Amino acid sequence: SYGEDAGDEDDLQARPPVVTVMGHVDHGKTRLLDTIRKTTVHEGEAGGITQHIGAYQVATSLEDRERLITFIDTPGHEAFTAMRARGAQATDIAVIVVAADDGVMPQTVEAINHAQAAAVPIVVAVNKIDKEGANPQKIRQQLTEYGLVAEEYGGDTMFVDISAKQGTNIEGLLEAILLTADAALDLRANPDMEAQGVAIEAHLDRGRGPVATVLVQRGTLRVGDSIVAGDAYGRVRRMVDEFNEDILEATPSRPVQVIGFTSVPGAGDTFLVVEEDRTARQIAERRAARNRAAQNAQKRK
Ligand code: GDP
Repeated sequence: SYGEDAGDEDDLQARPPVVTVMGHVDHGKTRLLDTIRKTTVHEGEAGGITQHIGAYQVATSLEDRERLITFIDTPGHEAFTAMRARGAQATDIAVIVVAADDGVMPQTVEAINHAQAAAVPIVVAVNKIDKEGANPQKIRQQLTEYGLVAEEYGGDTMFVDISAKQGTNIEGLLEAILLTADAALDLRANPDMEAQGVAIEAHLDRGRGPVATVLVQRGTLRVGDSIVAGDAYGRVRRMVDEFNEDILEATPSRPVQVIGFTSVPGAGDTFLVVEEDRTARQIAERRAARNRAAQNAQKRK
């Protein structure tokens, strides 16, 4: 069934944290995701990330060990709440961006509420410290009101002062994400089962047909797998990553673009791999019929 790792403790292996960036409009979420994408790339990927697929992975080192972090590449809490509404929790850690020259604003508070309601640990990125009038300490003070007390004041929330524009202290932010994950979460999954996860975005491509970016949450997704996501199904014909390179298998926390669905899944739909094409089709068709019935019932109201 969806949502559980097969096997026992011994089958679980560490997986990278999945991060969503949230915060008030214009506080620098998009710029931050851009800067992270540009400054930290996988070893051997000299060209950097070449396409937006809805999520990307970066490598960073912590205590001399290379570690990966997965970023959902859609800033804001809409994607976060849409996925939760469908029963999929894709995010492990929320980075709340607050502009140091502006302070805590309504959408900052909203973002914090969403993260806290989902019991997702928060790292605060105090952004725009390059600007005149930036007051990072004031942000720390303001956020105590929302239960976010900085470590240096005896709390357990990591605050990191950054400039997304100048690329200042991005490594510090990535380190804080990993330290928070290590302290607060036990991020493990069984890679040795049929894949399950969530579709984070999908569209109809003129040349390639339905294309969906999926985040693998457990198991390993492989080319050739029969897959069902919401009421869409298909066979994984091809997978490409954010470097636009073909990949043959994707392990937990890895986002990949999947080509081979016969229709376009919905963003936020959970997916699973099944043994046979026929089963995938049956599950999808049953769900489609249920959706149609629900829509008709809605119309009659
Ligand atoms: P979003 O609405 O939260 O995604 O905000 P954006 O990333 O679009 O940023 C809003 C504006 O602030 C843009 O003009 C950015 O270039 C600018 N900006 C973002 N980060 C910084 C920063 O660290 N310093 C300065 N000076 N400007 C920034």
